[in-house]
Amino acid sequence: MRYELMLPNQIRKAIAENWPVVLPLGVLEYHGEHMAVGMDTLAVVKTLELFEREADIVILPPFYYGAASYAVAPPEGSGSVQVGGNALAPFAEELFYSLLRIGFRDVHAIIHHQTENFAAGMPTDLAFKSAGRQAIFRFLEKERGEGWWGSQAMADYYSGHAEGANFFNWIQVHPLMPAATDGQYPFDHAGIGETSLMLALCPEAVDAGRFADNTGWYTATAPEASMELGQKGVAMLLEHLRAILSR
Ligand SMILES: [Zn+2]
Repeated sequence: MRYELMLPNQIRKAIAENWPVVLPLGVLEYHGEHMAVGMDTLAVVKTLELFEREADIVILPPFYYGAASYAVAPPEGSGSVQVGGNALAPFAEELFYSLLRIGFRDVHAIIHHQTENFAAGMPTDLAFKSAGRQAIFRFLEKERGEGWWGSQAMADYYSGHAEGANFFNWIQVHPLMPAATDGQYPFDHAGIGETSLMLALCPEAVDAGRFADNTGWYTATAPEASMELGQKGVAMLLEHLRAILSR
């Protein structure tokens, strides 16, 4: 369900049943002359809309204003919007803290931007990961008081942890695309991989008549894009979502 359309009784049901609550996280960034600047975020939004047909999830309003950086193109006339990670982290902490206050305990942010470096982290995902940790510590301390972890009530912490119980799983950040695609799908920026994904998920975000206007190396493969390849990619993304959003 889209969070902004939910009634309080539906929110309470989602809390009681521990539905995954998912934030589509992304940027607005130049993706060549042939593709819309919202590609990275649209890919998450549209894939989640497909996933929602098969699973009970809450989809938060997407956050588009991440750290696109100006690495691909300067912003003038290109459309890239850059908000640095240091500015994002305080916002994200308040957002996550607020979601914990509401009662959600299975919160996920999903991002498709610079995720080829997800393990080490890049500015947007690092800001949201760090914010999630800060929000959880702050929330637990408010709810339980200082010394909550050292109290006798927590004596089974390590055995519980070994069984998978972990407060720090309350908020997680994931890449949209699995780390290992085993050569099954091209990972790129505005090339055949991303353009095919958009053709499958959101064809209005691609104008094939503009391929010839591209000059960047990273768009060289874009004209080879196809909806068929994109659909293969979408199937992989849905499989990945099934794994990370299973309850
Ligand atoms: Zn992209």
